Amino acid sequence: MSSTIWSVDEHLDDILGAVRPLEPIELQLHDAQGCVLVEDVMVEIALPPFDNSSMDGYAVRVADVEGADEEFPVVLTVVGDIAAGSDGLAGDRSLGPGEAARIMTGAPLPAGAEAVVPVEWTDGGTGGGPADTMRSLREAPEGAGGEVRVHRPVEARAHVRARGSDVKPGDLALSAGSVIGPPQIGLLAAIGRSTVKVRPRPRVVVISTGSELVQPGEELTGGRIYDSNSFALTAAAKDAGAIAYRVGAVTDDADTLRATIEDQLIRADIVVTTGGVSVGAYDVVKEALSSVGDEDEPGSGIDFRKLAMQPGKPQGFGSIGPDHTPLLALPGNPVSSYISFELFVRPAIRALMGLKEVNRPTVRATLEADKALSSPSGRRQFLRGTYDAEAGTVTPVGGSGSHLIAALAHSDALIVLPEDVTSAEPGTDTEVILLR
Ligand code: AMP
Ligand code: MG
Repeated sequence: MSSTIWSVDEHLDDILGAVRPLEPIELQLHDAQGCVLVEDVMVEIALPPFDNSSMDGYAVRVADVEGADEEFPVVLTVVGDIAAGSDGLAGDRSLGPGEAARIMTGAPLPAGAEAVVPVEWTDGGTGGGPADTMRSLREAPEGAGGEVRVHRPVEARAHVRARGSDVKPGDLALSAGSVIGPPQIGLLAAIGRSTVKVRPRPRVVVISTGSELVQPGEELTGGRIYDSNSFALTAAAKDAGAIAYRVGAVTDDADTLRATIEDQLIRADIVVTTGGVSVGAYDVVKEALSSVGDEDEPGSGIDFRKLAMQPGKPQGFGSIGPDHTPLLALPGNPVSSYISFELFVRPAIRALMGLKEVNRPTVRATLEADKALSSPSGRRQFLRGTYDAEAGTVTPVGGSGSHLIAALAHSDALIVLPEDVTSAEPGTDTEVILLR
């Protein structure tokens, strides 16, 4: 147990100084969502891969429809039908003077064609109204598709999406360090990539401690409470981008806890415990982990310390097991554990992922309250609040009690009152951490 009091920033720096980004692995696209890319992804094909139509209509030669209007439409011979997925006109034939090919959106522009006339600028072709649009003229003999009347001229390349107008071979699709979100997955798929090299999601094991804890859904008997921490923190770990495993509640028995943690190390990139870190008689996490450090291994073992913050004063941090897996021992009060997670575990998860931005965004806001808020001297206080972006205000929800789970559930921000502040008047400009 360190006798010195650690500041919030010192504790966070200690954690971030110890966690290293996870080794990259090759993942299938859908598994890479939210992960950080560690390679530059180059484009190997053109997108679109070929000139194609952006409309349902008729592929034409520009000179043929010059001067066309409603009164004097140009009549063209329909020589074929080109659906998306087809390879141009049958027999590799190109479009000759006076000819048109019916073409669907996304279908390749046939050789000889210079533009597409949208179907709305035509009579839809002889015998072929809109309902008939999808009928394959390729079933009919070539050139026997009838005629189309075109009511308007088109410029060269009109309604044509040029080959390579999106990306070209040799272009940089995504650079190393990019975060893979849905549009990035779309681009990777569009250029034909099925896997990418990324840092994987960290696997977070969440263990709550306390002989008083009962699993939700079971009967609550005298003196017992439902285990909410393991649920909240597993959800928070997922929200931070991790793969989260909820082990649930372990009784206040040091040997059981040690055995549970050892069992879990196999699937953990980081272990989070709640409860049992203060100075009570049953402070099981402290009892179980104070002794796990191997004297010969520098940096191994868990250090239990006091932080200059409220809530969340008692905290443990260190590494455990053969792989020196980081372990954060958070206090047991639900609000304390949740805020500790937000301030320390979330950044650690994001550092393991290789993300540059590990902290929640902060803003300044005007404190909206009926009366002044009091705050302990020498401790950074984190109060729950609701943030109004439009008004630029933040309003406290509930009090400072670290058991007030409902208030936490009704807040979307943390109001930060610095160490030297003992009272914050309504109207004060305050720092706010945005939780959503
Ligand atoms: P501890 O730090 O273990 O003494 O716990 C502090 C307070 O938080 C006690 O009132 C515990 O009952 C409560 N607490 C601890 N763990 C949990 C949990 N997983 N869910 C809900 N409350 C808890
Ligand atoms: Mg306890």
